[in-house]
Amino acid sequence: MIENRQDLEALDSADELREFRAQFELPPDVIYLDGNSLGALPRRARERIAGVVEREWGRDLIKSWNAADWISMPQRTGDKIAALIGAAKGEVVAADSTSVNLFKALSVALRVNPARRLIVSEKTNFPTDLYVMQGVIEQLGGDLELLLVDGTEEALEAALATRGAEVGVLLLTHIHYTTSRMYDMRRVTAAAHKAGAIIVWDLSHSAGIVPITLNACDADFAVGCGYKHLNGGPGAPAFIYVARRLHERFTQPISGWMGDARPFEFLPGYEPAAGISRYLSGTPPVIAMAALEASVELILEAPMEAIRRKSIALCDVFIELMDRHCAGFGLELVSSREGAWRGSHLSYRHEASYPVMQALIRSGVVGDCRPPDLMRFGFAPLYLRYVDLWDAAARIAEVLRTREWDRAEFRSRQSVT
Ligand SMILES: *Cc1c(COP(=O)(O)O)cnc(C)c1O
Repeated sequence: MIENRQDLEALDSADELREFRAQFELPPDVIYLDGNSLGALPRRARERIAGVVEREWGRDLIKSWNAADWISMPQRTGDKIAALIGAAKGEVVAADSTSVNLFKALSVALRVNPARRLIVSEKTNFPTDLYVMQGVIEQLGGDLELLLVDGTEEALEAALATRGAEVGVLLLTHIHYTTSRMYDMRRVTAAAHKAGAIIVWDLSHSAGIVPITLNACDADFAVGCGYKHLNGGPGAPAFIYVARRLHERFTQPISGWMGDARPFEFLPGYEPAAGISRYLSGTPPVIAMAALEASVELILEAPMEAIRRKSIALCDVFIELMDRHCAGFGLELVSSREGAWRGSHLSYRHEASYPVMQALIRSGVVGDCRPPDLMRFGFAPLYLRYVDLWDAAARIAEVLRTREWDRAEFRSRQSVT
């Protein structure tokens, strides 16, 4: 039970991750509750980029492909991400965007059991996941079919029970982008395998924030995002994981030269590289990759169990403060009150979600909105303090109580929400 701001100061003093905040560049006067959408800037990412630009590019020019080993960045960064998601070295590369990696993973996953023509996913999956599934079906044509079910373990298991023999691939987002609901990865992966299907996990809202055990769950494919909880910067490279047992059996469809066994022999025929490197396509974006690599190194310095513990605690405290200070203003918590199967953001429904969020951003509390009527608040354990939640809840209550949001200027839509 939180009585006052001092109680939260006490939580901050006892916080095992409190030293990490100083590692980030955070604007004063802003309480940043959107790290699930664009993670904050780690100081060492800024320094790493500066080094790449000034020394490696500016001075050493093309020599840096070898001298600074730019060429191995996708594998090196992939190995670091692997440590965050329960994968082995050599099973992950950083490359492309999540959308492009989804295309690669799904295309290959469908080839594992080519006689199975059904893809199963969730009705409210993130749009890019739905669109890529639609695009792959369009591309591969034939009799491929998409079955979208409700987002629960029970609904998925029921679909697998009735149509399991037809299911080639189950493609799911581990933590939902609005509700924050988290699937039981072990249970769902086992259910897919029992039906003979391949699983593709989208870890966009999970990587770097919840413990993930891809190998222990025997997951087949996974993809995820570099700019959310991995703090890799806007448009950071994404990643792709493929279980080692599947590496040599298949090639992916964007068979560019960086995924070739000998790119610098400039041979006319494609021969896929051994291992996960065949999931590369083109030249890595070195500057962006440098930021991601530095950011992931920082996360690896924090015990994942501590990150998870604080993430749940921050969400719990926020819910308690919102219940107390914002009751009666038409807010409804859409995310679970139970931390166990919840990610690190919370969604609240409000009929004026968009103008309310615009007014909040103006007042220095930064979250975001998702249609039709959700406000999202994300909680980044490495740089948020408990007192920030007290201050945020107080400002949110103020904006709602005074109806400060009810002005024309807060209704006009920005292009990015
Ligand atoms: C953020 C997010 C993406 C992002 O895809 P991009 O290709 O990086 O734009 C994909 N899937 C999910 C579930 C996400 O939350």
